[in-house]
Amino acid sequence: MKLTIIGAGPGGYVAAIRAAQLGANVTIIEEKEVGGTCLNLGCVPTKSFVASTDLLSKTHRLEEYGLELHGKIVPNLSKIIERKNKIVNTQINGIRNLFKSWGITLKKGSGILISPQKIRINFPDASEETIETEKIIIATGSRPYELPDIPFDGKKIISSNEALNLSEIPKKLIIIGAGIIGCEFACIYKELGAEVSIVEMLPRVLSTEDIDISNLFARELKKKRINLYLNTKAEKIDLLNEYVHVILSNGKKEVAEKVLVAVGRSFNSNNIGIERIGVNIGSRGEIIVNQKMETNIENIYAVGDVIGEPMYAHVASKEGIVAAENISGLNKNIDYSAVPSAIYTHPEIASVGIREQQTEEKGIKINIGYFEFRAIAKAHTIREIEGFVKIISEKKSDKILGVHIIGPYATELIHEAVLAINKGLKTKDIAETIHAHPTLSEGLMEAAQDADHKAIHMKKQ
Ligand code: FAD
Repeated sequence: MKLTIIGAGPGGYVAAIRAAQLGANVTIIEEKEVGGTCLNLGCVPTKSFVASTDLLSKTHRLEEYGLELHGKIVPNLSKIIERKNKIVNTQINGIRNLFKSWGITLKKGSGILISPQKIRINFPDASEETIETEKIIIATGSRPYELPDIPFDGKKIISSNEALNLSEIPKKLIIIGAGIIGCEFACIYKELGAEVSIVEMLPRVLSTEDIDISNLFARELKKKRINLYLNTKAEKIDLLNEYVHVILSNGKKEVAEKVLVAVGRSFNSNNIGIERIGVNIGSRGEIIVNQKMETNIENIYAVGDVIGEPMYAHVASKEGIVAAENISGLNKNIDYSAVPSAIYTHPEIASVGIREQQTEEKGIKINIGYFEFRAIAKAHTIREIEGFVKIISEKKSDKILGVHIIGPYATELIHEAVLAINKGLKTKDIAETIHAHPTLSEGLMEAAQDADHKAIHMKKQ
């Protein structure tokens, strides 16, 4: 069976490998670089920056660890970027080698659907080729959303793409949007020494997270002296001399060298020929698929950011696997009931399942187990005591519905909860499981015990 995939991000390249494992003859078309947004301009580069800034942050607190520094540590942005590029290139080579080992053909060019069996590839040297195929997966991803009134100029008004390759640390950075990308860059550039302001239209930061997480994180931003404007719109932008002047809806004006607009993503569903063959798209341009990742046109599948939320690399990859398995004759459905979200701010944030505010909207009766990292010995040994674990369970059945963590290594700790929700476990299942001491994972155990008022390291209420 001949399968052609357009886009080699975490949706497309994972689908390619899974389909090849199952015996398909796979061609993958990529116009930029394998790994997509995630590897080249997203997950991996930002986390490489975070590794540098986390270390830098610790060096500012060396005395707290009984250490002395005789000298000065300063961030060197070009070296941080060089390190990031090296990591990205290693991973690019890794994906290319996987393609070779599985016999996957990579074509470097832009793919456009001509019919459900034909794709034209436009190569960078202006030559073209039309290939025939039996099945197609569209995995073209997304790009930064551009505000109509505040268009990107790539220099002073930038997107996350440019924020990863600045020539110097700006003295002042204004970030429009307090979503995941905006908050991650706020923490990175603040730690590198920039003055940072965030402007957010909604009443809270990270508005899709549990309300307690948003509230604590907003306090942490303030502690870092990041200016936070909530319920505020960036109404107008003027470029004057070297600076960007941002007029806010509260009447104030913020002036900075750079403005990072991080207000969401646009779907790469235009210019790929899908209108011509009648693939259904939603009102925002997302391709519409069913639980098997099939579009309305037979033999055409779509996965990843281009089909809309939840827009994470791990979701794109899972959707890619489901599409590849269905194409290969297995009968699989995507299941979004236990999708972790991981936010690499300081402190880290991770969550899975229902938020407390959603249980109120849905009228679900719940129990909440809550445990703070400051009551955990390991958190003190690593000097990261801010944050908590919150477990939401159904009152009647004790079944875990949602887990929300803000604190050290939250993005690693969440997976015990992801497994618990995926397997329909109860708080008592985590509460009664022996967790190693001293670990941060004890926070999950104690939060689960607190759901039944049995947490050991908590005062009598
Ligand atoms: P993409 O990764 O966007 O890949 C699509 C590919 O298709 C691209 O390589 C593109 O060049 C190619 N393409 C498009 N059109 C064509 C065409 N016509 N022909 C050929 N090729 C084409 N997610 C996480 O899970 N964790 C994180 O920590 C995280 N951090 C992020 C940080 C930032 C700054 C950003 C911007 C995103 C982050 N994300 C993160 C989101 C994550 O990057 C995306 O969810 C993920 O990349 C989606 O994968 P995809 O394969 O659907 O699309």
